[in-house]
Amino acid sequence: MLGVSRDADQAAIKKAYRKLALKYHPDKNPDDKEAEEKFKEVNEAYEVLSDEEKKKRYDQFGFAGVDPNYQAGAGGYGGSGFEGFTGGSYGGGLNGFEDIFSDLFGGGFGGSSGFGGFSGFDGGSQSTYHGPVQGSDIKVRLTLTFKEACFGVEKTIKIKRTEECSHCHGTGAEPGSKVETCKTCGGRGTVRVEQNTPFGRFASEEECPDCHGTGEHHTEDCKVCGGSGTTTQERRIKIKVPAGVNNESILPLRGQGNAGENGGPAGDLLIYIRVQEDPVFKRDGDNISYTLPISFDQAALGASVTAPTLKGKVKMKIPAGTQNGKIFKLKGKGVQNVKGKGKGDMFVTIRVEVPKELSPKAKQLIEELGQELGPENHEENEKFWDLVSKS
Ligand SMILES: [Zn+2]
Ligand SMILES: [Zn+2]
Repeated sequence: MLGVSRDADQAAIKKAYRKLALKYHPDKNPDDKEAEEKFKEVNEAYEVLSDEEKKKRYDQFGFAGVDPNYQAGAGGYGGSGFEGFTGGSYGGGLNGFEDIFSDLFGGGFGGSSGFGGFSGFDGGSQSTYHGPVQGSDIKVRLTLTFKEACFGVEKTIKIKRTEECSHCHGTGAEPGSKVETCKTCGGRGTVRVEQNTPFGRFASEEECPDCHGTGEHHTEDCKVCGGSGTTTQERRIKIKVPAGVNNESILPLRGQGNAGENGGPAGDLLIYIRVQEDPVFKRDGDNISYTLPISFDQAALGASVTAPTLKGKVKMKIPAGTQNGKIFKLKGKGVQNVKGKGKGDMFVTIRVEVPKELSPKAKQLIEELGQELGPENHEENEKFWDLVSKS
């Protein structure tokens, strides 16, 4: 819509948007319905792309859905991600694209009207002759624990899908039975149809209604599939979920969906990932954060404390005089990037626990401590009142 390349940065997106917005602006095109519609679409596209988070998701999943040369495992999720599922190239995948797109943005792209522009790509399916048709996608939801998503996991899922009948290899004919040329179309698979329309008389080639475009008839239906060429199978599929997937990730398994028609490729199996929350760790992209409570004396005197990471515990040095809310970064202790681009960090926020329910002795000691501490121990307080006097 904006005419920018996939890897366009925010500056380029903004520039393209301004140019188009100016061109289609209602003030410049009074009473022009088409310009008005364009202006709306451009604005909607900009809304998505200018939102870094949304664009990231579009970048991650849009690619798989749109690029006709996309190969399973070749990009996005790392080569080893889908052993055994190196389905062929994703030809004519625009049907899948629209699905993925609308799911990702939940209609935020202006609902179906926003996709009006894409129907142009779809020209082929409007033609009267039905060639190979890609099978439909299968969508499956897969729930992972927080750590399974961080480290990757192997899961087996059960799906039901249509597959090419193994008995007749999709022809629908009983093997060995006779094949005759279709009398209706003479074996061409198409018939000529003439139509009267308000615009004149039109002739077009349409799929032969008798042989459905195959140009031939078999004399005996396949005993297994009854002539449909496909059977429904229950399959257990092993999925290697790559380390670093996040909530709302979609793993596309090319060619693992329903069988295609007329020799078309199979659809895809789309795994919609949901990640459970962890009681301690919070995730932001590849970074992990949590809050670590330490005692008042540890904060004041400094200490070596135990801190959890995704992979076991580590010792963390708390310097003397550490303030409440101080954040320590444990480099590289975050999540493995799903595209293999390094690892995130871990951010530990310190929370100093003020002692409660004091014993008489503890109370006495703290009182003594309070008397011992001078103004130099309350710098923050002094600074604060200094600011108040200036406000
Ligand atoms: Zn069959
Ligand atoms: Zn025919």
